[in-house]
Amino acid sequence: MAFTQLGLAPKVLEGVRAAGYTDPTPIQLRAIPLLLEGRDLVGSAQTGTGKTAAFALPTLSRLKSHQPQPRCLVLGPTRELAAQVETAFRDYGRFTDLRVCVVYGGVGYEKQLHELRDGVDVIVATPGRLLDLIERGAARLDHVEVLVLDEADRMLDMGFLPDVRRILDRCPKKRQTMLFSATIPPEIETLCRWALRNPERVAIGIARSPAETVSHALYPVAEDQKDALLREILRRINFDQVLIFTRTKHGADRIHHLLRRDGHSVAVLHSDRTQAERERSLEGFRQGKVEIMVATDIASRGLDVEGISHVINYDVPLHPEDYVHRIGRTGRATAAGNACTLVVGSELDQVRAIEHFIGRKIERRKIENFNYVYTRAFEATEGIRSKAVRVGSGFVTSGFGRRRR
Ligand code: AMP
Repeated sequence: MAFTQLGLAPKVLEGVRAAGYTDPTPIQLRAIPLLLEGRDLVGSAQTGTGKTAAFALPTLSRLKSHQPQPRCLVLGPTRELAAQVETAFRDYGRFTDLRVCVVYGGVGYEKQLHELRDGVDVIVATPGRLLDLIERGAARLDHVEVLVLDEADRMLDMGFLPDVRRILDRCPKKRQTMLFSATIPPEIETLCRWALRNPERVAIGIARSPAETVSHALYPVAEDQKDALLREILRRINFDQVLIFTRTKHGADRIHHLLRRDGHSVAVLHSDRTQAERERSLEGFRQGKVEIMVATDIASRGLDVEGISHVINYDVPLHPEDYVHRIGRTGRATAAGNACTLVVGSELDQVRAIEHFIGRKIERRKIENFNYVYTRAFEATEGIRSKAVRVGSGFVTSGFGRRRR
């Protein structure tokens, strides 16, 4: 079915055309008609499935034209995600006269206060700064008709649920509410019962599994060969842009310096950097000026940078769901992506937890002509010996080349 048949407002359809989309993605196909009817919705979808447009397009259609009071509020966990959702609303709504503003902490108040004073239709916010602005009397939510809780599981992880509840208390009871979350743990289920009215549930794909467009494998290695293996991988792959994840901020800074010394154009993104630094890093990466971004999990959810051909996990993520989110940063929409995860002996339990979470074994690979020293991380390959041997000689060619566009 084409976008034109979904019942979206003509000016919003113009925005969709300008964005270059021809066909709706599965979650858009399912969610848009329900949301246009005004239904509440709980959506779980894999990363990169077009979730933002699934809620933004019907919302813009329903708001129709500018009014002085905010009528849509989108809450999300991180500044980066909020900024990205704001951009999406602006893009899709560019042929309407609707106004959008983004509200998050770590930056001055002036611009946000100014925009709110001028009157906006859509506020995209992280919870802390929004509460702050509400308490200062700068933001009012008593005209909100549409409320979106984006990446709800992440807001839970970050301890935002009490703030989210306080914000919800400021919104009218009669409203449309949608909640998106990759997984629905019991706390989110409770929130759904409390905040949503008889929601329709839309699950696209299996939220636990990585997108099918991403080819991913594990690279067992001894602890003190990790840097050497990382550099060797970067030398051998033919990448557009690479996102490297580390477990700690310190680790991110260290790899950043290491790769800069090697002559790469590289940026770093983690929560100890100032907001201005984070924005500069992200902008450089988005524009393709920076070829490698080193980040902690702050960057693993929702971020959408089209040029990412490879994700490298320098450390195995602690939470299995972060594995799915991290590697979902590549292979966005329908492009093919590659992800590799360095594994040391002490991380084998985490690997097992990830494999349990996604419901299957992840292929182990070794790269050719690399002077491996023995590590017990290799032992985990025993169970899938035939595969390991087969791919052992096929590293560069098997799914690790430049992504197809
Ligand atoms: P999201 O899951 O919202 O982060 O979106 C992932 C990517 O898919 C973004 O780059 C969107 O611009 C893109 N996208 C969303 N909807 C469509 C569509 N119908 N056709 C093509 N690309 C889309």
